[in-house]
Amino acid sequence: MRDLATLPKAHLHLHFTGSMRPETLRDLAAQYGVRLPHALVDGDPLRLPPTERGWFRFQRLYDAARACVRSEADMRRIVLEAAQDDAAEGSGRLEIQVDPTSYAPFVGGITPAVEIVLDAARSASAATGTEVAVVVAASRMRHPLDARTLARLAAQYAGEGAGEVVGFGLSNDERRGDTAEFARAFAIARRAGLASVPHGGELLGPAHVHEVVRELVPDRLGHGVRSAEDRRVLDDVVDRGIALEVCPASNVSLGVYEDAGQVPLGALVDAGARVALGADDPLLFGSRLVAQYETARHEHGFSDDELAALARSSIRASRASGGTKQRLLTGVDDWLAGG
Ligand SMILES: [Zn+2]
Repeated sequence: MRDLATLPKAHLHLHFTGSMRPETLRDLAAQYGVRLPHALVDGDPLRLPPTERGWFRFQRLYDAARACVRSEADMRRIVLEAAQDDAAEGSGRLEIQVDPTSYAPFVGGITPAVEIVLDAARSASAATGTEVAVVVAASRMRHPLDARTLARLAAQYAGEGAGEVVGFGLSNDERRGDTAEFARAFAIARRAGLASVPHGGELLGPAHVHEVVRELVPDRLGHGVRSAEDRRVLDDVVDRGIALEVCPASNVSLGVYEDAGQVPLGALVDAGARVALGADDPLLFGSRLVAQYETARHEHGFSDDELAALARSSIRASRASGGTKQRLLTGVDDWLAGG
C-alpha cells in the first residue's frame, strides 16, 4: 500500500486557530496563564450533537483556543507549524483561512494582522517547501459591513503565490446571518480576482447550498457535502464546477454524520463533483490532512488510483499558479508509478 503522506496534494480547508498543535496551545495557555477547557487538552476528537447547543460548545472551545493567541510571535508560530505539518503530510500547497479580526487588538489592527499572516506565510513557504497562501474569511456572526471591510482589505493583497491572498471566505455557524447580505462583500473580493470560498452545506442541507451558490457564486464550497441529499442541487454544483472542500473529521465531530463511513464521499465523486479533502480544525477534531485520505481509503474503499484522483482534484481546485499545479500533478503521477 502506498504511503498517503507522500502523495502530493493541496490543502484548501484549514483554519488558522484550528490548525494549532495541541502542544502549542498548551504552551501559549501556560505563557498567558489561561486555563483551558478539558475538552481542548484531553486529546480526544470532539463529538457534538448536530444542534445549536453542539455548535455553541464548539464555538466556546474555539474561542478559548483563540484567546491564547496574543502576539505577532504567536501568529507567526501558528503559520509556520501549520506549514511544517502540511509539508510532513505531502501538502505542497496550503491555503490557510484566517479571520484577522480576533487578533487585530494585539497587533494594532486588522491590516497589521493580515500583514503578519502573509509575511509568516512567505517565510513558512521558504522554510518548508509547502507554498502557503491565505484565504481571508469574514464571519456570519458579525455585521455584513464588516465583511465588506475585510473584502476590501483582502483585495489589496490579491495574488496566487506564497504569502498572497487567494480567496475570500465566510465562516461560523451556517444557521446565523442572512447569506444574501454578504453578497456585496463577495462581489468586492471577486472583482479583485479572489476566489469565492464560503462555508455551506455542512450543518444545513441542500437548500442552503442552493442559497449560497445563488448569492455568493462560490468557486469552492467549504464542505457542501449535503448537496448529496438533492440530486438537482448536486448536479448544479457539478455543472458550475464548484469544488467541495470535504472535511470528514469535521462532519463527524459536529454530528452531521454518525461516522466517517457515512460522509457521502463516493456519491459526490461519482456524481462528478470536484473534491478537495481538508482537515478544517485539527486542534478540535483530532486529525490532520492525511487522516482524511485514510478515511477515503479505509472507510470508502478508494483505490490508490482513486486517491491519486482526489489529490489531483485538490491541486486543480487550488489557486496555485500553473507551474505549481503542474509540479504537484507530476508528483502525483510519480507517486502512482512508484507503487
Ligand atoms: Zn471550516
